[in-house]
Amino acid sequence: MMTGTSPQHHRFQSNAGQHVLVVPYSRIYDLPLDFAERLDAGEHEALAMIAALGLPGAHEMPLDATVTPTPHSISLNVSSSCNLGCGYCYASQGRFGGSQPEPMTFETARASIECLFADRDSTAPLTIGFLGGEPFVNRTLIHRAVAHASMLGRQLGRQVGFSVTTNATLLNDDDIKLLRAHRFAVTVSIDGGEAVHDAQRPLARGRAPGSFRRLTQAIGPLLKDPGLAKIAARATVLPGVCDLEDRFKDIIGVGFTDVGFSPLRTAPTVPGFDDREWDRYLRSLVALSRSELERAMAGRPIRLANLAIALKQLHRGAASPYACGAGGGYFSVAANGEWYACHRAIGNPEYRLGDSRGLDEPARRRFLSARTVHAKADCNRCWARYLCSGGCHQEAAVRTAASCDFIRAWLDFCLTAYCDLSIGQPAFFDRDTNAA
Ligand code: SF4
Ligand code: SF4
Repeated sequence: MMTGTSPQHHRFQSNAGQHVLVVPYSRIYDLPLDFAERLDAGEHEALAMIAALGLPGAHEMPLDATVTPTPHSISLNVSSSCNLGCGYCYASQGRFGGSQPEPMTFETARASIECLFADRDSTAPLTIGFLGGEPFVNRTLIHRAVAHASMLGRQLGRQVGFSVTTNATLLNDDDIKLLRAHRFAVTVSIDGGEAVHDAQRPLARGRAPGSFRRLTQAIGPLLKDPGLAKIAARATVLPGVCDLEDRFKDIIGVGFTDVGFSPLRTAPTVPGFDDREWDRYLRSLVALSRSELERAMAGRPIRLANLAIALKQLHRGAASPYACGAGGGYFSVAANGEWYACHRAIGNPEYRLGDSRGLDEPARRRFLSARTVHAKADCNRCWARYLCSGGCHQEAAVRTAASCDFIRAWLDFCLTAYCDLSIGQPAFFDRDTNAA
């Protein structure tokens, strides 16, 4: 059956019947067949009813408001080097093209953490992330920063969580104890089985064993006994190698239960996806998602993070004019103490918005106003605009019709999956055990 779409709504169907996504505020409704047909025929009264369903509720913010919340999440770029030499690294192994020649000192980390805790009236949970280069090159700082933030959290009655993105090859027993003992979201960069991973993520000095074996040996004890840590695997998909199924199996085989894929869209020195890749990638992602959906229908968790996260966002009605918190609730601190809107933009003056002594609020407001999805002409008429939100700011320059078609096709698949699962296994959405 043909289904209709407009900037205000997107029609789709599932095994459960006919549905509509009302674009503002991402509201999903089941439709009687006769109403669905009237809507698809463009009947004025049906379209007006859908438009009314997209109005803000009493406590909902207008979607076009520019808000500058108190930051609740920072990442600290603690290291300016890495023991691997991945060709696609956005950070040039932590040096950011020469902008970050030295690692962060504890004094810089402490000032940033104390700035995050500065709003004494707030009770919002805080998150402190560690990035690099490879963050565990600067492990002493991580251990001290976690101790300091935890102490402040106890003193000030604030909940504090941590995150780290790591290649995991350098983890030692003390690091594992630290990760187990705190609420740590640990993201491990692993691109597939040994052959794929070692080819894409070689050791900087090429010694044996390769990075895959080092990673699996080092992360094994944490996977077996994670304590308070939540561990996720994230794989970068390079052009020409879009088949996900084998990689997924290989990564699951290591012991991960949460695996996400990110296609390489742009990198300083190697080419990212071009228009020919998206369709292949979509087919592979959907095929893998179908098998994970079967698991979910049988009452088991979804291990594919791309799908689990999308379903969770649809369930909570996620709708935002921003793809991420960059410059809003989230900032990334360079080793020299400057605050940037995004960790991929260290050294880029357009993203530099202050330091631990204070943010440049007018510059921040200008940054956010220029990057809302409403400021992007192509996005304004797209039904996916409050789910995709215009995408990552770093990737705006490589957005094409083919990459947008991929996003819409993927979201359409996820909407259908969401309705199927809501009927077939509603308990799925009550659990917190899924990879999301
Ligand atoms: S980036 Fe593309 S898919 Fe996303 S909202 Fe804009 S036009 Fe739509
Ligand atoms: S701009 Fe892109 S890389 Fe930066 S925080 Fe947002 S989504 Fe992440």
